[in-house]
Amino acid sequence: MTRRLSAQPFAKQITARATEIAARAIADARGTAPEIAVVIATSEPDSLLYVDRLLKQVSATGLVGRRVELGEAATEAEIFATLTSLSADQSVAGIILQSPLPSGVSREIVAAAIAPGKDIDGITLVNAERLADGTHDASLLPATAAAVMELLRAYEIPLQGRQAVVVGRSAVVGRPVAHLLELEGAHVEVAHSKTPDLGVVTRTAAVLVVAAGVRGLVRGEHVSPGTVVIDVGIHPSGDTIVGDVDAPSVEAQLGETGGLSPVPGGVGPMTSAILALHAAQAAERLVRRRA
Ligand code: NAD
Repeated sequence: MTRRLSAQPFAKQITARATEIAARAIADARGTAPEIAVVIATSEPDSLLYVDRLLKQVSATGLVGRRVELGEAATEAEIFATLTSLSADQSVAGIILQSPLPSGVSREIVAAAIAPGKDIDGITLVNAERLADGTHDASLLPATAAAVMELLRAYEIPLQGRQAVVVGRSAVVGRPVAHLLELEGAHVEVAHSKTPDLGVVTRTAAVLVVAAGVRGLVRGEHVSPGTVVIDVGIHPSGDTIVGDVDAPSVEAQLGETGGLSPVPGGVGPMTSAILALHAAQAAERLVRRRA
């Protein structure tokens, strides 16, 4: 059977570490818990459900989650002004800008209003550039990309000198994962929607990260036996979710020497744990700065 690269128990350990760091920061702030602001300009049910879980996770660490609802009609100027004000707010340690944004709003433009030190989901250009040149702060990385790396680390998957393929090149997942894999010494190839024959590229991978946003895109014929596959995709399916990987056909092809992260139970819970950790580290930074 193919190895299942589940987030547990590692996500639980990371959350426990986040809670410890947050508790220290709150004690140093004489009992006042720093806030983590989540800015929402959508009414998409899946996105709102994600925010609910995120805020629960933030409160579980002891920090205060601040829900900033702007509505799906929010303009670029309104979102920019809100992010500017949260960036200057001394009680706010970290800021998350929830996706999707209203149509016509540029993520890049509004993200520029987030203070880089409060950018706990790594969406500002400043933090993306730091990642690209390897001078980044780990607590300001895009959380999903960091979660992919954490899963690979947790299962001791070797990366140095190995062929890694990333399917997807979005600014939030594909690109940062490709940079992080490169920094670990992997030889990285990125496939995307214009790649002529996906299987030709993905079959070369020792490590394959799939973040295309297309349900069941990667099937058995796209992988080679022994590959380790990380499935980032999330697609609602009845009362559960499925990924970008067609798990049954891929597992049959990977065999016993391969590995696959499950959906649900893989990148998703690891991402929540990493965000909690980034939030706690931002709280620690804020309290130190105020001291
Ligand atoms: P996106 O739509 O911004 O980017 C998708 C990328 O995949 C693009 O670069 C595109 O070129 C590429 N792509 C699309 N179709 C392709 C195809 N047929 N073949 C090859 N490449 C293709 O998506 P995103 O924000 O990067 O998210 C990707 C997936 O990850 C989505 O399913 C999303 O829901 C999920 N996601 C999960 C988490 C998590 O915590 N688990 C977090 C963020 C995103």
